[in-house]
Amino acid sequence: VREKKNGVIAPGSLGFVNAFSSASASQSQRLAGKVAVITGGASGIGKATAVEFVRNGAKVIIADVQDDLGHAVATELGPGAACYTRCDVSDEAQVAAAVDLAVARHGQLDVMFNNAGIGGNPVRPPLGAVDIADFDRVMATNARGVLAGLKHAARVMVPRRRGSIICTASTAGVVGTVVNPSYSASKAAVLGLVRAMAAEMARSGVRVNAISPGAVATPLAMETFGSWFPGKSAEEIRRIIEVDVSSMDGTVLEPEDIARAALYLASDEAKYVSGHNLIVDGGYAVSRTAK
Ligand code: NAD
Repeated sequence: VREKKNGVIAPGSLGFVNAFSSASASQSQRLAGKVAVITGGASGIGKATAVEFVRNGAKVIIADVQDDLGHAVATELGPGAACYTRCDVSDEAQVAAAVDLAVARHGQLDVMFNNAGIGGNPVRPPLGAVDIADFDRVMATNARGVLAGLKHAARVMVPRRRGSIICTASTAGVVGTVVNPSYSASKAAVLGLVRAMAAEMARSGVRVNAISPGAVATPLAMETFGSWFPGKSAEEIRRIIEVDVSSMDGTVLEPEDIARAALYLASDEAKYVSGHNLIVDGGYAVSRTAK
């Protein structure tokens, strides 16, 4: 977590290269020998998680629809540690293929990070103007895509009686917020899927958990907040996300913080943790629900 000095973010440390080079110095290998598929791994939280997983000894398949970015991340991580595959999670067959690629390439799948997501129409409309088609689009990626990931990860994990499936939800799925209701509904659906599947898979030795991040200045959040504050620069938008709406003073929530939460849930340190929603939001959700 970067420090805020007088409300200003200290420069550096968000970039991929910085994250990877500082990571290389560590000897930690908490995922040694494990194989992971990361959907949405070309950007933001998914990219930071790919870096963190590889640093900890995992081999990763980056599954995304941004081919250039995905290939670039895989190249930086190295061909032995990472590869990119195009995978639109709203298409079940493509999710199945990403899982099969992990098994074909590495012989197994230990971690499935169902992380790909979209924000939908950024502006929250009055209820009478809600765009039902937007609801379908958001649900197809954020909820149905997660269900496809759960289904196909379980297909290869249950026979081995081991595995960790992690799904990115959001504080927007926990509390009613000012964001697009389609997005909130999709993330509440993710939490419902996690609870339902954790119960079903407990006897199979496969763990299923959610992570609910607060606002992180990734491209997804920058675009959403940018549409709420037209005319503001990228720097001003970043400051709104990292300082103005942040619930914790003195620190900034970064993609790497979510990556470390995913690392814990992916590792054997979480061997008895299942059905959990790990909220990483500096206390935002509890402060809202306590009111
Ligand atoms: P991001 O835009 O940096 O990354 C999202 C990635 O998902 C992109 O690489 C994008 O190409 C990919 N993606 C989108 N649709 C896809 C599809 N159909 N198939 C495959 N890949 C697809 O944003 P992020 O913030 O890193 O988002 C990651 C997850 O975190 C999302 O599920 C998002 O809803 C969730 N989240 C983000 C925040 C935040 O403030 N950034 C907060 C809570 C939850």
